Amino acid sequence: MTKIKTKMIDLNNNNDKEEAIKEAGKALLLGDTVAFPTETVYGLGGNAMMASAIEKIYKAKGRPSDNPLIVHISDFSMLESIAESILPYAYDLMRAFWPGPITFVFKKKAGVPDITTGGLDTVAVRMPDHPVALKLIKYAGVPIAAPSANLSGKPSPTSGAHVVEDLMHKVDYIISDGDTKVGLESTVVDLSGDLPIVLRPGAITDEMINAILVENKYDIIVRQTDDAVDNDEETENIPRSPGMKYKHYAPEAEVWAYTGSSNDIMALFREIILNKIENKENSSCKIGLMIFTEDWEILNPLISEINNVSLADDNLFICLEGSINTSEFFAHQLFHDLRECDRQGCEQILIHAPHTGDMSRAILNRLNKAAEGRVIRI
Ligand code: AMP
Ligand code: MG
Repeated sequence: MTKIKTKMIDLNNNNDKEEAIKEAGKALLLGDTVAFPTETVYGLGGNAMMASAIEKIYKAKGRPSDNPLIVHISDFSMLESIAESILPYAYDLMRAFWPGPITFVFKKKAGVPDITTGGLDTVAVRMPDHPVALKLIKYAGVPIAAPSANLSGKPSPTSGAHVVEDLMHKVDYIISDGDTKVGLESTVVDLSGDLPIVLRPGAITDEMINAILVENKYDIIVRQTDDAVDNDEETENIPRSPGMKYKHYAPEAEVWAYTGSSNDIMALFREIILNKIENKENSSCKIGLMIFTEDWEILNPLISEINNVSLADDNLFICLEGSINTSEFFAHQLFHDLRECDRQGCEQILIHAPHTGDMSRAILNRLNKAAEGRVIRI
């Protein structure tokens, strides 16, 4: 791929932010690619109405072209230019959650190029809750297609540094503005059929969606897509959300995730760690651990009591994911820590995954793909 001269805009170190965002917005309109922060993860934007701009996005990411993009808007007038057959309950959901981390799928209008929607007759739309993203789209004046700003298959980027790592010299602009708030991609809900279906879990949960439907007196509840379709290549079922069939979010290291009690999981981690370390051939092998602070209180004495094994920094890289009672911090850190374990040269990453809390469904969904199914309940 030919190298592109990427223009860096670091908003934490910029005297005229407004002017810088305006320049990038105008460039978007004319067909450039611009990576930018949102509240979920960083996105790689292109003019959703211009096929040549969308081609550049697929090329920069190395993304399969049947994997559709989410189109980002800054106001409701943009929605009406790209989507149709929008039901009243959809407006109630949008009013309740936008701007915010939830994407809705509608029948698309003819003006939206096929390449933007991966050849589908539907379009996925979101209004992001981030001042930079909203301003950028406003300056562009057109809807902006923006998948996550990472190389296809890799963990999504939650900081400007991650975007630089993956896309430097592959895109026209990178706007960097610190860490993203949520850390996981948006919830995706299909509203193009008879009933609302969650295609991808995220920070907005089924319970939150159903609460709005009840409040507005609709006799409708949202359902989850059949997860079985997700990984089963043998079935003739076509996944409703095309992105589901690809390996995703995966670091170089092999990921193993576990749910269950802290005591059981830490006992297992102790065995795995000691086996690895005692096996001389693997003495340089490094293991990444993503565990809760409560877990570390259990594991630390378990591994330090082995007096003839020194658990030097070269063997373990420990990421503490906050308290076991909250899943938000885990979600915030997940992609960051998967990337960090790679940077530290870990061969394997052992994870205690949360199975309760608002973000747990979304986390398990991402981990299932990052771990290629190695999510084990013990
Ligand atoms: P990303 O932009 O990388 O967060 O991925 C966007 C994901 O949104 C895709 O992989 C699909 O799973 C989903 N998506 C986008 N557009 C559609 C659509 N028209 N119908 C169903 N799912 C969609
Ligand atoms: Mg993505």
